[in-house]
Amino acid sequence: TKWVYTFGDGKAEGTAEMRNLLGGKGANLAEMSNLGLPVPPGFTITTEVCTYYYKENQSYPADLKAQVEEALAATGKLANRKFGDSENPLLVSVRSGARASMPGMMDTVLNLGLNDTTVEALAKSANDRRFAFDSYRRFIGMYSDVVLGVDLHHFEEELDGFKDRKGYELDTEMTADDWQAIITTYKAIVQRELGRPFPQDAHEQLWGAIGAVFGSWMTPRAIKYRELNEIPADWGTAVNVQSMVFGNMGETSATGVAFTRNPSTGENAFYGEFLINAQGEDVVAGIRTPQDITEAARIASGSDKLSMEKAMPEVYNELVRIYNKLEQHYRDMQDIEFTVENNKLWMLQTRNGKRTTKAALRIAVDMVKEGLITKEEAVLRVDPLSLDQLLHPMIDPKAERNVLASGLPASPGAACGAIVFNSEDAEIAKKESKPVVLVRIETSPDDIHGMHAAEGILTTRGGMTSHAAVVARGMGKPCVSGAGSIRVDYKAETLSVGDKTLSKGDIITIDGATGQVLIGQIKMLEPELSGEFAALMEWADAARTLKIRANAETPLDARTARNFGAEGIGLSRTEHMFFNEERIVAVREMILADDEEGRRKALAKLLPYQRADFTELFEIMSGLPVTIRLLDPPLHEFLPHTDKDIEEVSKAMGVSEDKLRRRVNELHEFNPMLGFRGCRLAVAYPEIAEMQARAIFEAAIEAGRKTGQKVKPEVMVPLVLSKMELDLVKGRIDAMAKAVEEESKEKLDYQVGTMIELPRAALLADEIAQSAEFFSFGTNDLTQTTLGLSRDDAATFLGNYTDKGILSHDPFVSLDQIGVGQLVKLAVELGQKTRPDIKLGVCGEHGGDPASIHFFHNVGLAYVSCSPYRVPIARLAAAQAAI
Ligand code: PEP
Ligand code: MG
Repeated sequence: TKWVYTFGDGKAEGTAEMRNLLGGKGANLAEMSNLGLPVPPGFTITTEVCTYYYKENQSYPADLKAQVEEALAATGKLANRKFGDSENPLLVSVRSGARASMPGMMDTVLNLGLNDTTVEALAKSANDRRFAFDSYRRFIGMYSDVVLGVDLHHFEEELDGFKDRKGYELDTEMTADDWQAIITTYKAIVQRELGRPFPQDAHEQLWGAIGAVFGSWMTPRAIKYRELNEIPADWGTAVNVQSMVFGNMGETSATGVAFTRNPSTGENAFYGEFLINAQGEDVVAGIRTPQDITEAARIASGSDKLSMEKAMPEVYNELVRIYNKLEQHYRDMQDIEFTVENNKLWMLQTRNGKRTTKAALRIAVDMVKEGLITKEEAVLRVDPLSLDQLLHPMIDPKAERNVLASGLPASPGAACGAIVFNSEDAEIAKKESKPVVLVRIETSPDDIHGMHAAEGILTTRGGMTSHAAVVARGMGKPCVSGAGSIRVDYKAETLSVGDKTLSKGDIITIDGATGQVLIGQIKMLEPELSGEFAALMEWADAARTLKIRANAETPLDARTARNFGAEGIGLSRTEHMFFNEERIVAVREMILADDEEGRRKALAKLLPYQRADFTELFEIMSGLPVTIRLLDPPLHEFLPHTDKDIEEVSKAMGVSEDKLRRRVNELHEFNPMLGFRGCRLAVAYPEIAEMQARAIFEAAIEAGRKTGQKVKPEVMVPLVLSKMELDLVKGRIDAMAKAVEEESKEKLDYQVGTMIELPRAALLADEIAQSAEFFSFGTNDLTQTTLGLSRDDAATFLGNYTDKGILSHDPFVSLDQIGVGQLVKLAVELGQKTRPDIKLGVCGEHGGDPASIHFFHNVGLAYVSCSPYRVPIARLAAAQAAI
């Protein structure tokens, strides 16, 4: 087997395509070499060696040693040096390089090959003793730290003490003799800590470093990172060994990092930093302030230090030529590392650069205009979920800020609302359509419902990856976490900072962009979407076949959805239209009435509300399809809880509170999610469905007259488990349509369909399709009922399942494709068998999840419906699925 691939001098055994074998860094070094760019010669030990190493009890393939020796010789030949030679030694860097860049892996060992003898040779060839001994002491420190496991602080303390004794401030004051003295103590530290000397043999050094790279693949940090990012352990890492070039050989040498375009704005301008007379880690370590690369950037930053453009004009021009070539070749923004040794430029790395969402959009759109990539490629370049950052309201930059405290900017967007201190209060407020900010010391999975209900979340403890931060980002809710100066008193329901105290109900605003907590309501700006956003979305729309609808019932949601490009409403949850003070009483009245007459009385009160709501929705959606779902109230959400609730309802119904309490007790359920909800309500009390159908049809006529656009409502029956059940409800709907047609003398155009939310409905979808003109998959309930996991309770224990890998991810966030997905597929096939033109969509939360959207595209759904803020994400994800 070939385990080792060489590169250098304008050729390479590998290519960019061999990323799996050579790792990202190795593949790109090979590619740059093939492009004829100046790359210090070297070789890559493949990821297969890493895999072998762990399979074979941490040993190497028998023929690896010979291949490494051969590659070392070839590298030395190109560099005119020899590894381990005392006269003319080849020095190398050793770096890890997995397929995906991976924090937690061993990073870099520089200057490998130096020892007590070769340091003298380096001093002679560079004609600089100070430089040589400085390099040697860096090597001892670095190697001891990352390979031998001697902590760096031992060396740092020694150096600091030495400088103190000498009265030095800066490393630059250290002389060659000083460094030589430091080296003696450094070696003594290694002897003391390990009981053996620092290795002098270059080959021993090299194999130690190679072993350290492979060893770092299995460090807890690396393992954790792989888990979080779903990187399989058997990918392994490669090892890159490359001849050293020195950026610290005086004023004609330098080292730097750059982006071919601005990674935060996307502007097409070369962007980066460099340091004269420095080695790579000096730029990263931030000890010295780096210099700008271009003169334009220097002027913009106001730096008084020379730009590279001025300091090294020829090398700069060469760098510009190379970066342009790299961008043309890779057709993407590059993140490059380079070193200048005695006015000669060397490229050490190139890779596709990380960027903000804003930059990603701009770069993708610019590159299309430049003819570098196609529109389809541009659409594929932007992560749909990342659009979330751009879509939230932000605080008007001109608004005055009364800052109470600051925390971490944990999740983007700004939110304003009354303070509540627990999730129950947040939920109650939501039902009353009152915006709140949930304030907790920390959140736990118990708070998910409260976080959902709140406009934003503020915690006083926890970092960017705390529960609150992670969950809020997932929900697209603004969040400020870890605002440590705030004291929360749950009992008194107050929060205070210094002598300022706010109570439950007081209004605050949180700014998820800066982490600020502000007193009062601050003016917000709706997100302003850039021209690039619009352009990319247009290309996405051209590429996708899935239609995107929104889940919306309020006029605000409907307008937001349209602004974001929704092509209709896929789910209007009518029960959500009743969560306000005056209406909820009538709803409770309806539910608690113990006979039809009582119910009809309550329903008569609800009809005008419903009709007005629907009319407004139809008007806003002007002609686009709108699916309205009949009432699906898990009863527990509607029963009166407090004495005040009971009192109100008893007055409205004219029955005694005692009688009402008995009725509430009768209706209590142990398992409300599997209880008297969905169309079961309409089966028992058809008059409810009739009222809703009337409201829908009358509204359709009214909105049609107002807008001049014919409204074609889609009436949706929830939680169906059989055709006969659907037929019972559908019969009432159709009869009501006839009645309204006769009354209004207008013809109605409507459809009746069903949600597929129960496994039984999926299994019997062919029968159900005889009556249903459309299916909308309610994947929230379908997940709940297929996995037997309560959507309201699972969060408390689901973590065990994802941690242990029993479930690869939270099935309520991203569809369980191998399980629940089978039912979706089956129902699609059965439904189409009965009714080839059946309209198919999804309206569970999964309708806004990119991975799930890929799945829905592949099984042939016509549309996905998601929350309004997810609409752009869904548009982009649907396009990516289609390309
Ligand atoms: C569903 O179950 O997926 C659905 C959309 O309905 P709800 O979330 O209202 O139960
Ligand atoms: Mg449901």
